[in-house]
Amino acid sequence: MRTTVLHDGVLVDGRGADPRHGVDVVVRGDTVREIVASRPADSYGTVDEIVDANGMLVIPGLINHHTHGTGYVPLFPSGHSGLPHAQVLANLDRHLLEGTTTVLCVDGFVTAQALAGTGGAHPINLRFASCNIPSCLAAATIADGSGLTEAHRGFTARQAVGAGAVALGEIGAGHTLGGGGASYLYIPAEIARRTGVTITPRQANDLKIAVLGRHISASAFDPAAVEEALAGAGLTGRLSVADVREIVSGIVLPAFDIALSGIAEAAEQARASGVPVLVHNAAASMAQVAAVAGTDVTLIAGHSNHSSFVLREAVAHAERLKERGAIVDVSTLDTFGARRLTTGPELLYAMFAAGVVDTISTDYAGGHHDPILLAIDRATKAGVLSLPAGVAMATANVADAIPGLAPRRGRVVPGAIADLVVTDPAQLDHVRTVMIGGEIVVRNGVRD
Ligand SMILES: [Zn+2]
Repeated sequence: MRTTVLHDGVLVDGRGADPRHGVDVVVRGDTVREIVASRPADSYGTVDEIVDANGMLVIPGLINHHTHGTGYVPLFPSGHSGLPHAQVLANLDRHLLEGTTTVLCVDGFVTAQALAGTGGAHPINLRFASCNIPSCLAAATIADGSGLTEAHRGFTARQAVGAGAVALGEIGAGHTLGGGGASYLYIPAEIARRTGVTITPRQANDLKIAVLGRHISASAFDPAAVEEALAGAGLTGRLSVADVREIVSGIVLPAFDIALSGIAEAAEQARASGVPVLVHNAAASMAQVAAVAGTDVTLIAGHSNHSSFVLREAVAHAERLKERGAIVDVSTLDTFGARRLTTGPELLYAMFAAGVVDTISTDYAGGHHDPILLAIDRATKAGVLSLPAGVAMATANVADAIPGLAPRRGRVVPGAIADLVVTDPAQLDHVRTVMIGGEIVVRNGVRD
């Protein structure tokens, strides 16, 4: 059996404990065998490989439980046509190079075939959530549904759990609830079709809020705000206020109520199937999410720092969800890099500072998500998060929240599966080495 030693690193083991300096992690086969005070490298006579981790941080492989475009399934719970396989593999590579060793695809519409084909194509551990419930299917069919086949329509969430789905989700996802997808996909596409002008996601979002408000309601229509948003998008004279009202309402509203009702329906099904339910938590869905919290189901409130929330509202909502036993997730979104949808880290930092965050994931952000380790790096440097707590949010806390997702993973302890990351403590997103099941799959920051 192959033996590898990660030599002389600083271990943050995922359990929230303080870093341990000068540690050797000994891996045999696919398992962490022992964790010991660093010994001279030449005392390991017979080992196959010694990875010099001197001064580097050793952490568990990250478990990212909110991703899209990571499986051979329709894209998003709106049932959009799936990405080409090469793009899916490229997305998985990107997660891997960011230190993620387990990915949960929450696009949602799965089949027995998709669930059976989770291994093999890529070294990352890929698992699926299912949104194969009647109201999600109905909402997807209204909102898009271009990638749905009879196999998706005929498959149930109960069957999906039996075939290996580890959670239900994403329920009420953005595209059916007027969230990010409406802003970066559907509204710009329709406006380009009518005017030939390509607007940015932020401009589309401004139009959407002007017509329907942050909580998505026809009564929030604000003609003056629509005028302003039209001017901001360079569309004055090309579209009238009435045109914009019709476009935005036509894209967002038909699927909205049915998608909202899916949250309670999915919670009921998840309870019956014994798996967690992962829901789209945003200003538009917060009342329905709060109503499910406190019922007898494991509720994961996804991306609780969604950009539709104002800061106080998000923190107060998260506090209420936590009181009711929900798991509060935040997503990196495009907070630090692209900022096509997110304006900055204030809300994310406020969530950390308030101590309400249980888990951290990426979500999709229109294909521009920031790495989890980048968010932890920035938040620790900003003084709103400790490194051990941040690592736990991306590892052990996730493994505990979704028991089927990553058993024996998420902690660097003897007997755990050896999913390990070696990275630079001064710049956490500079991932050097990634090991999955005892095999090194990333060396010096590139795929091995
Ligand atoms: Zn979402």
